[in-house]
Amino acid sequence: MTQASPSSRTVAEWLAALEAALAAPEQADWSALFAEECYWRDLVAFTWSIETIEGPEAIAAMVRQQAPLVGAQAFTPDDPGLPMTDEMQGWFTFETATARARGHVQLREGKAYILLTAMTELIGHEEIGGARRPQGIEHVAAKGRKTWLDEREEEARTLGFSEQPYCLIVGGGQNGLMLAARLRRLQVPTLVIDAHPMPGDAWRKRYKSLYLHDPIFLDHFPYLPFPDHWPLYTSKDKMADWLEIYAKAMEIAFWGSTRCQRATYDEASGEWTVIVERENEEIVLRPRQLVLATGLSGARFIPDIPGAERFEGQQYHAADHEGGATLAGKRAIVIGSNNSAHDICVDLWENDAQVIMIQRSPTIVVRASTMQEGAKSLAYADPRMETEFADLMGATMPFRPRLAAEKAFTGYLRQIDAPFYERLEKAGFLVGHGEDETGFFMAYYRRAAGYYIDVGASDLIADGEIAVQVGEIGEILEDGVRMADGTVLPADLIVYATGYHSMSRWMSELISPEVERKVGRCWGLGSGTQGDPGPWEGELRNMWKPTAQEGLWLQGGNLMQARFHSLHLALQIKARHAGLPTPVWHAERTRVRAPEPAF
Ligand SMILES: Cc1cc2nc3c(=O)[nH]c(=O)nc-3n(C[C@H](O)[C@H](O)[C@H](O)COP(=O)(O)OP(=O)(O)OC[C@H]3O[C@@H](n4cnc5c(N)ncnc54)[C@H](O)[C@@H]3O)c2cc1C
Repeated sequence: MTQASPSSRTVAEWLAALEAALAAPEQADWSALFAEECYWRDLVAFTWSIETIEGPEAIAAMVRQQAPLVGAQAFTPDDPGLPMTDEMQGWFTFETATARARGHVQLREGKAYILLTAMTELIGHEEIGGARRPQGIEHVAAKGRKTWLDEREEEARTLGFSEQPYCLIVGGGQNGLMLAARLRRLQVPTLVIDAHPMPGDAWRKRYKSLYLHDPIFLDHFPYLPFPDHWPLYTSKDKMADWLEIYAKAMEIAFWGSTRCQRATYDEASGEWTVIVERENEEIVLRPRQLVLATGLSGARFIPDIPGAERFEGQQYHAADHEGGATLAGKRAIVIGSNNSAHDICVDLWENDAQVIMIQRSPTIVVRASTMQEGAKSLAYADPRMETEFADLMGATMPFRPRLAAEKAFTGYLRQIDAPFYERLEKAGFLVGHGEDETGFFMAYYRRAAGYYIDVGASDLIADGEIAVQVGEIGEILEDGVRMADGTVLPADLIVYATGYHSMSRWMSELISPEVERKVGRCWGLGSGTQGDPGPWEGELRNMWKPTAQEGLWLQGGNLMQARFHSLHLALQIKARHAGLPTPVWHAERTRVRAPEPAF
């Protein structure tokens, strides 16, 4: 048989060459397999972490270390009928010593340009479900046998008391619940605690007019998709109810009205001591794994503006805005110009308040209606598409090559919505597109702030119904605000839509400043742009992967990320629960301290 030349290599031939190289990684010529510009995005399968490794040399270094430990083999091309399969790219499956995995490779002249490898399940520790569904009842008579209800009640009596959870999840929003659902199916004893009484309360307590910005086909929960007659955009109260239903259906052990006060880790025993307050009672929990699913934002951030204490009207943070029903006729100032600021301005306007938004720096604005059109072409929108597969398709694009795609998308939005942006600018609003023109999505990954998805406020701004004042605030007066340029804005109400402290703060508040320092910044890619200091990391810092603190994990993000990455975190936790080897590959990097928020 003649050997195919590298430039005409098919996916099957490339996979065979990869498998041969993995068998002798020291001797292999990795630059013959990977293009000069190349990316290997690994979701737990090779690195036991979430990493994108860039360039043939870095890839060779990773694989030389990991290949003997991981034992990847049986690389097999997947169904040729799958999307993103042609002569240049294709899906495949493989196994490691401990797991089954799936991957995708894109070839350029026979060498890998982008490789994705993703663990899907642990061998011998698969989720219950399908053919592994439990029997439920034994069809034999037996004295004292337990019903499902007996078992649930026994778990409620014992878990957290005589039985310790292996994993404790602090935060029962979508992130905590999705992870808990996966761990339940993996049979890892897990407890979720939340300061709110009920699952879903974090959504329930947000302002009344809130609807999700993403269409429903992006928002499905693992195992339990939304009914297909549900509206395209979900109200926050409907979402809150869904979280409650989900927690029940997935039999998640959930303690409401329970606040985590303090957690300390004992290196010697590998155990956390977590003090929680449950309905005024102090309880000590001793999990081995502690997950913070406490939300992307830390505590509310209110800037220190001179004179704030003398303001005679009402003033509060955006998170405390319960709705404008009682505010008709009031002169309201909303400080900030991102999503919450816009939504609150609309709410105040709808309730007949006079509204001024204070904008300090440019805001990225994308129109929900334009995004809705764009979303129609997403794989998720096809009713025949499995959500899990669409998630994998999305993962085939690492962040660095994505920058060019996002620039192009931003350019497209600017072009088709040019009249909209012109009207906004004419009204005095500072429109931004990201300092490197990569727009909305990259702003989300870099700092989860700095943008507005327009669901109506922009027209009000363009029409002058919501006034915009650009600039720095000089001081707060008894009855208003004086801008640095001397302009005085009278006010009865000031709303601080000024954001939140960083997520890393949870670590110092609940554990210690030392642990916060050790783990470093969470979220952000290290792009070196405002709010996301370098060095380049290539994946979201510390999210869903081992942190520098043994036994401490972070689970967060929007519904898509919560769904997709809860799988990766659940697999990592299950592997530790099962005592499997989990050789983590750590890229060389410096831990970056979180800066104060900028609104
Ligand atoms: C206006 C708006 C629109 C959004 N639209 C979308 C959208 O369309 N699609 C999308 O995917 N996402 C959207 N999001 C973003 C995101 O999905 C939500 O913010 C989501 O709530 C994050 O879920 P979470 O589970 O990480 O955190 P949260 O929902 O914030 O839950 C964290 C939980 O942790 C608990 N907690 C915190 N500290 C403690 C403690 N010490 N002890 C016990 N419990 C604690 C809190 O009580 C809370 O219930 C939107 C957000 C906003 C504000």
